[in-house]
Amino acid sequence: MGRTINLKMLCCIVMLLAGMLGSCQQGYAQKKGVKKIVLDAGHGGRDPGARRFRLIKDEKDIALDVVLKLGKLLNDSLKDVEVIYTRKHDFYPELKERHAIANNANADLFVSIHVNATAGTRTKVQNGYKYVGKGSKRRKVPVYTTVVNRETKATGTETYILGLHRTSQKEKAIEEFGDNVTEEPGLLDENDPMTQILVAQYTQAFQNKSISFGDKVEKSFVKVTGRKSAGVKQKGLEVLAGSAMPGVLIELGFINNVEDEIYLNSEEGQHQLAYAIFRAIREYKAELSR
Ligand SMILES: [Zn+2]
Repeated sequence: MGRTINLKMLCCIVMLLAGMLGSCQQGYAQKKGVKKIVLDAGHGGRDPGARRFRLIKDEKDIALDVVLKLGKLLNDSLKDVEVIYTRKHDFYPELKERHAIANNANADLFVSIHVNATAGTRTKVQNGYKYVGKGSKRRKVPVYTTVVNRETKATGTETYILGLHRTSQKEKAIEEFGDNVTEEPGLLDENDPMTQILVAQYTQAFQNKSISFGDKVEKSFVKVTGRKSAGVKQKGLEVLAGSAMPGVLIELGFINNVEDEIYLNSEEGQHQLAYAIFRAIREYKAELSR
């Protein structure tokens, strides 16, 4: 008897869980298209990001310039898309504030824009002589100074999606804002083992979408700008880990590469970059609306 009940209960639980899974997948599938996009200009205010090399703009300035140009393109040409900014001015929102903006807006895509830099190289250069020791031991020795060469040959764009070792934080964000994702409030209970399966599925769905979008961004960069693309990479990036939606972090170029810096500071370069991202968003949106 007890065994029968247990078996029945087990059947019920399996069916219930299967139902939950089905309704959740349906809930997510129903959320078609791209209606809200969060544009996140990296750094800002007290945090300049990568510092200017030979020209005037730091990473935070270039990121904001391109974000504002991209926002305008979206507003002008994709009128059914709402654009949400994490900042429109030179100030620094904390990462958790950026996540909160994206999660509370129930956005469909998180696009964080940054500029790359390499560490530069340090070389010892002889810079005259000095005398050391006393009396007969006094001798002349060379003096060296360290010269930092920031200039790099690295060039072009790359796009990051969230790496796997940050997914537990991503899962937390999805659990917290799960009702926004599933449109079924109260369904996700973090103590429920089934939730972990559901959340893992969402994480997978977000990751696939992020890769798909990132790939479009990089291909569009090549097509529009003709610049070098390092493609889509994975990284455990804090800025991507807290938002419960697909997202990418785009590196527009290397600020300490002479040619890249000129391009990144120019109106034409910024327009090209914004337009390339716009095309990728338009294509991604069209694909999800089908
Ligand atoms: Zn950055």
